[in-house]
This record gives sequence, C-alpha cells and structure tokens, in this order.
Amino acid sequence: MSSAPSVADNPSNESRDPAYFGYYAMLQHQQNMLQDTVRTSTYRSAILLNTECFEDKLVMDVGAGSGILSYFAVQAGAKKVYAVEASEMALKMKKLVKAASLPGGMAKNEFLKDRIEVIQAKIEDPSIKAPKVDTIISEPIGVLLVHERMIESFIYARDTYLKPGGQLFPNKGTMYLAPFTDALLFTETMGKARFWEQTTFHGVDLSPLYPDAKAEMFGMPVVGHFDPKSLLATPTSDAEGYEMDFNTITMKALRDFVVPISWKAQYTGLMHGVAGWFDLTFSGKPDSAASQPIEMSTGPSAEKTHWQQVRFMFREPLAVNAGQSIRGWMHCVVNDMRSYTVDIELIVGPFGELSDPSEPFEPLLEKQAKQQQQPVSRSEGKEVEEEEEEEEEIDELQFSRRRGRWELHEQSYNYSYTGSPNDLLTKPEHLCMYEPENVDDAYGGMEFIN
Ligand code: SAH
Repeated sequence: MSSAPSVADNPSNESRDPAYFGYYAMLQHQQNMLQDTVRTSTYRSAILLNTECFEDKLVMDVGAGSGILSYFAVQAGAKKVYAVEASEMALKMKKLVKAASLPGGMAKNEFLKDRIEVIQAKIEDPSIKAPKVDTIISEPIGVLLVHERMIESFIYARDTYLKPGGQLFPNKGTMYLAPFTDALLFTETMGKARFWEQTTFHGVDLSPLYPDAKAEMFGMPVVGHFDPKSLLATPTSDAEGYEMDFNTITMKALRDFVVPISWKAQYTGLMHGVAGWFDLTFSGKPDSAASQPIEMSTGPSAEKTHWQQVRFMFREPLAVNAGQSIRGWMHCVVNDMRSYTVDIELIVGPFGELSDPSEPFEPLLEKQAKQQQQPVSRSEGKEVEEEEEEEEEIDELQFSRRRGRWELHEQSYNYSYTGSPNDLLTKPEHLCMYEPENVDDAYGGMEFIN
C-alpha cells in the first residue's frame, strides 16, 4: 500500500539546488521571463502605480534574477533595494548595476547609482546582512502557482525581513480548477503508452510494461495552453478559486494543502481530467486611497503567459451529464524535487462518499497487481465473498469515482492549441460537448397561455 505523502517529512530542496540555480544562472532563461510581456508589464504597473510602497522606502527583491523588479522599484523611487539572488546571475546583475557608476559619459542606467545592493546568497542564508524593509517584491511563481516551491522562500523573507505593516508584491495567489474534455490529448497519450503493448518488438514482448507505461504517461501533468471552450464547467462552485494569502499563509499550509472541488457540469460529455491555472494579485497598500490594485490571470481565456496552464488527465474518462454535480478535492504535498505530489479524487452525482485526502491511497495498478499475486481462495468463505462483491457492485453503479496521482515536476508539454481566429467558429459539439436542451427553444420561443 502506498501511503499518502506526509508533510511531516518536509522534503528538502537542497539536493536540487545545483540544477535549479544553474538554470537561473543563464541569461536565456531570465530572458524567457523578461519576454513574457504580461508578466513583466504587470509587475511594472503594480510597482509604478503604487509608489507609496516604494518612494523613499527600503525594499527587498527576493530572487532578483536579472534584477528587473529591483530596477522597477528604483524607478518608483526606492531609497535602497536589497537584491538577493542565489544563482550566478547575481554577478550579471552586479555588472549591470556597476555600469551606473562608471566615470564620465560611460555610465549606463545612472538612475540605479547607489540604490541597489546585490547580495549573492540564498534568502534562507542566516549570514545575509540586510535590515528589515518596508516592501518585499518577488516573482516566486511556478506552474500552477506553487511548482518550484519558491513561495516558501518568499514567506521566509516575509517572516525574517519585513517590517510590521510592510507590503508584499504580490500579496495573493488564487488557484482555479475546472473539468476539461480533450479526446485528442487522451488519444495521443494512449498512443504513447500503447507502444509498450507490442508483443514482437524486434522479437521482444514489451507488453509486461504496458501498465507501467500507461501509469507513467498519465502521471505526467500536461503543460500548455488549451481552448477555454473545452471546459465542461466554470471553475469551482463560487468561481472564487482557492486563495493563498501571502501575508498570512504559513509554511505548513504551503507544504500540504487540499483544494476543495465542487462543479456543476454545463455540458454533457466526457471529462478527461482537471485543468488548473492561477491569478496573481498586487493590492498595494490596504486602506490607502492611492493604492491601485493590479490583477493578472494565467487562465485559458486570458492573454498567454510563460506559465501556461496545466492539465491532469485521468486514465479513464468520466462521463458527465449537463446539470450533474461533480465533487472532489485536490491534495498537494511537497516533494524533494522542488515540486508537489498531486492527488485528485472526483465523484459525479449525489451518491458516494469522498475519501479522506490524508488517508493512504492504493493506486489502481498496485491493487490489480496485488490481486494477481493473491488469488482469492475458492473453497472457504465463498458465499460471504459473493455477497460482499454484490454489495460493492451496487455501490459502484450508483456513482462514478476517479482518483489519480501526478508528480507536478514530471511535466509533459502540449502545444497543439494555437488559439487561431478559426477557433471563434468552434461550437461545443465540435469538442464533443453537448448543451442541455432548452425547453423554450423547442417551441420556437412561443408562449403558451392556459
Ligand atoms: N525576479 C526576476 C527573476 C525571477 S525567477 C524576474 O522577475 O525576472 C526566480 C529567481 O529567484 C531565480 O533567478 C532564482 O535563481 C532565484 N531564487 C530562487 N530561490 C531562491 C532563494 N531561496 N534565494 C535566492 N534566490 C532564489
């Protein structure tokens, strides 16, 4: 039995540091983020429209990278910015900042002169010499908000370096989940797995590995953009999403959390899995008339960002009828790959009880393997078993449940959706989603008077 991962283990990120910071030490990867115009201009607006959080203030930039957020903070009037960056990119940033102090007409970006102190260290390093600051800026966001586990470093900085009453930019992240249909994606994924079904591959029978291949291919979250029209319901029951308030969230709540799911299917169709994305909020200074809250969405209907969206696909689709309720949860627990293990359970219809997300979970494949190893005894207790089986069957007929596990770091990519103008012509039935029949329409909108 595989037990649910526990946050008590608090898996460390350290073993991943060389690869992680090696990646961010390269200009091309910083460039990739800088060129995400939605991301970069949202941060710029959030900072420049809320100068009261920056003018003559002490600021810390957590994970400064190329330093872009520090430069925006100086543009907004910051007295001093402590730019903390663990990777070798800190050296590149120093070079850029130093160019502001070059003599004569050689200086570049003179507005940065004496305003920025670059500190090459992990923010968690206790030897960092920086005072408490008025404002902390950071871009600690990964796929589905939490991948890369950098929000933990942001929260660490909050608890260690933020003055009481100081501001965080951003101060909130909101996660959204919605059911999607995508027969093509399902077929493609099955196609990859079915390679292992072959029995005579150069004379070798690969089929013993087919179940593992299927588990592996479906256990990879699919990152990419998709057609917002492929959603079978609007996200979460109240469309409010699952909020992470960076001002108050605890390390424990970040490392192990459950997102409740409650949807009402708007179409009849096959649900292939759960799609996820997030919004970021920059509220500025609360209760200040001058504050200009800024929001940024990474949803399928919003302008594209480098975060894209993520989809968790089930190994077997779930048939839903328009109007049916879908209940469930998504349980995310940190792992030592700078990411999360994600369990999702869903039930369609009013019957059936959801499992406790913290209870151990026996994946279907392991259950099948165990059953094969321990054939049911034929002689003893046969009647009792038959009775129990019958009961189980009735239960399963009353509702449909799906459960799966994904590793958020084992991402696969799908770029088949281009969002071309032709998509405007796409109707639900083109995506095998069927609208409920509108009774009024059946009579051409005629009114019947008794
Ligand atoms: N602020 C930049 C870079 C964002 S990417 C921008 O908005 O463009 C995140 C950066 O944080 C990376 O450069 C990474 O090396 C750095 N980083 C991640 N975890 C860190 C930590 N614990 N301490 C210091 N830097 C960190």
